Amino acid sequence: MIRKKILVTGGAGFLGSHLCEKLLNQGHEVVCMDNYFTGQKENVVHLLKNPYFELIRHDVTMPFFIEVDEIYNLACPASPVHYQYNPIKTVKTSVMGAINMLGLAKRINAKVLQASTSEVYGDPEIHPQTESYWGHVNPIGPRSCYDEGKRVAETLFVNYHKQNKVRIKIIRIFNTYGPRMNPDDGRVVSNFIVQALRGQDITIYGDGTQTRSFCYMDDLLEGMVRLMNSREDFTGPVNIGNPGEFTMIELAEKVIQLTNSKSKLVYMPLPTDDPLQRQPDITLAKKELGWEPTIPLEEGLKKTIEYFRTIVK
Ligand code: NAD
Ligand code: UDP
Repeated sequence: MIRKKILVTGGAGFLGSHLCEKLLNQGHEVVCMDNYFTGQKENVVHLLKNPYFELIRHDVTMPFFIEVDEIYNLACPASPVHYQYNPIKTVKTSVMGAINMLGLAKRINAKVLQASTSEVYGDPEIHPQTESYWGHVNPIGPRSCYDEGKRVAETLFVNYHKQNKVRIKIIRIFNTYGPRMNPDDGRVVSNFIVQALRGQDITIYGDGTQTRSFCYMDDLLEGMVRLMNSREDFTGPVNIGNPGEFTMIELAEKVIQLTNSKSKLVYMPLPTDDPLQRQPDITLAKKELGWEPTIPLEEGLKKTIEYFRTIVK
């Protein structure tokens, strides 16, 4: 086995911290870079005793110099509450972050993977979503700082590849959940579990018939690492997600059942531009990466609930 040097930006976040752990377990050397906006040291502190792990506080919007073989670019707040807190900063993180990481990759001839998102499809008019769909995004709505930032990042990746021969990979991640999600980050799975464990009302936005497809983090990370290691001329974008599709009411009922909670559902206004449906078509991931999810929602929720029981008071 060849020990690679790998940079993970956003490595102290939910997905980034699990990715650092997975890469270290595979025997690689990992540099985790994060500004701790939505991530925390707590997520990676257990890795600090590993001599092949290094933690650096840095903002991806600023140039960064290092010698590595591969870069996973995950730095960006992912929850609507957090990415809308400072929308200009969110655009800068996606766009300047992509420029900095692509410039670095170009200079040191590293391979670079971009954590893109199903949000590039916006509120989709085709269902399920294939990679060839161009999307339906409001460029001036409250979600646009995230959606358009990620779309420009994809544009930059594709053009650095065409123009400068940078080796790129683009993964479009659909809603992913699991242990180490921030309990306050406002995403639906963490919100519902925390509310159920505290016996508080479960907040359904809109009428709760909107759908999402939820992927457990272990499945997602397996797809991400397979993409990084895929054949040289396969750049993506490739959808990685679990095609199992649920309404928010179905999710709430499952969480209540698995936590034995007495919480009741309460209905609140649907946020502006909240997509009505979302389901990945994963034909390409199956063909190119031999990947498909293995962990059904109920099993993943049980593991996630177990984690939240240890941190929710
Ligand atoms: P997260 O918020 O837990 O992690 C993001 C990490 O990036 C955090 O540690 C945060 O502190 C860091 N960060 C934010 N801005 C930064 C900056 N300017 N400089 C350096 N670090 C910065 O979210 P996550 O769910 O782990 O998401 C990781 C990546 O995957 C993000 O790029 C996100 O857009 C993408 N993604 C996630 C999902 C999902 O469902 N989890 C879906 C689609 C895409
Ligand atoms: N949602 C909800 N209650 C909550 C949080 C979210 O009903 O407490 C809904 C939200 O309106 C959206 C879905 O759950 O329709 C997924 O929201 P999330 O913020 O997790 O991610 P999104 O896919 O919208 O980026």
